[in-house]
Amino acid sequence: MLAENLLAGRTRNMGASAIREILKVVSRPGTISLAGGIPAPRSFPMAIIEKITEAVLQKFGSEAFQYGLTEGFPPLREALAAYLETKGIVATPEQILISTGSQGVLDGLGKILISPGDRVALEAPTYLGALQAFTPYEPRYVQIDTDDQGMLPDALDAALARHSVKFIYMVPNFQNPTGRTLPMKRRLAVAEIIQRHGTLLVEDDPYGDLRYGGALIAPIKTLAPEHVVYVSTLSKVFAPGLRMGFCLAPDLVRHWLVLAKQGVDLHTSTFDQALAAEYLSGGHLARHLPKIIELYRPRQQAMLVAMERFFPHSFSWTRPDGGMFVWVQGPMGLDMEAVNRTAVDRGTAFVPGTFFFAHPGEGKETLRLNYTMADEATLTRAIEILGEVFDEALTG
Ligand code: PMP
Repeated sequence: MLAENLLAGRTRNMGASAIREILKVVSRPGTISLAGGIPAPRSFPMAIIEKITEAVLQKFGSEAFQYGLTEGFPPLREALAAYLETKGIVATPEQILISTGSQGVLDGLGKILISPGDRVALEAPTYLGALQAFTPYEPRYVQIDTDDQGMLPDALDAALARHSVKFIYMVPNFQNPTGRTLPMKRRLAVAEIIQRHGTLLVEDDPYGDLRYGGALIAPIKTLAPEHVVYVSTLSKVFAPGLRMGFCLAPDLVRHWLVLAKQGVDLHTSTFDQALAAEYLSGGHLARHLPKIIELYRPRQQAMLVAMERFFPHSFSWTRPDGGMFVWVQGPMGLDMEAVNRTAVDRGTAFVPGTFFFAHPGEGKETLRLNYTMADEATLTRAIEILGEVFDEALTG
């Protein structure tokens, strides 16, 4: 029988993903789950995939099945450089590093930057998967306060004056879990702060293209290029199963990320990269993205309308311009883990917000809702049930 002490000290920090445990429970037939965080299968461009698979075989032949560069398949890096230009980001293909999901970049950053006890600053709440990526490298987290417009620059400035941090991790567009977007004024402030303190910022942007209203806001990468690792993915605009992530990092960071990646997987799947290259360079993303937006926009709208109708007055929530999530704040004293257990018994589910805080026990009265996985009528029904569950929790 193997004993626990077989494991490295850091391994024991990993823990099971709380969300995965919840998702197991809610995958029961008949449950309407608002707990997930994944794209609708209907958003995948299946007809395009069929067409470009053919094109990739014609164009690249056996090259698409050979070992490749750790940095990534050159045609994909070229296509991504052109794609980033549409966001105002200037990059040469050589500066772009392909990763296995953007999750692969987050792990790589943890591996090359975090020694045990180093500080990492992040939004409160933040993306759970980032905590999972960084925690095994044993950082201390510095949580930075947020409001409905994301991270508070003054709080960040004060935290950086108090502590030296290895990097700041932030999701400025339609954040997971809150849906919040950092306005331009704050991006300028953050850019000034990181330059003044000489701090590295990890700008994680998987949702930026899923915009249902308003105009593009320039990435912080465009404001302080030498201080920002811009991380993104094709998971939400192509297909997450392809695991196609990428980053644009300052040279020093990219150099070590490449070496770290060599040890993990040598490189990301060549064939999948070739598909992604064709998806971008053939103009398919530009043509398909509006369809994804038209699938999600009415779903979000239906959910927000239902929340207005069925949620108690003491609840408040975000009204995001895009992305996949709405964040809900209940009155103090309500324990959303307990409330979620009741919701699951009634046939619906959410993710209690407390899982998204770096420091355990915070955000007990908050929760995250996802609207990409169900149609409008189903979402409305789920929100009606949740409204009843919340009413009972308040009176019970
Ligand atoms: N960052 C954020 C903020 C996310 O929400 C996700 C996906 N849930 C990821 C990164 C990882 O995406 P992927 O590995 O599929 O690129």
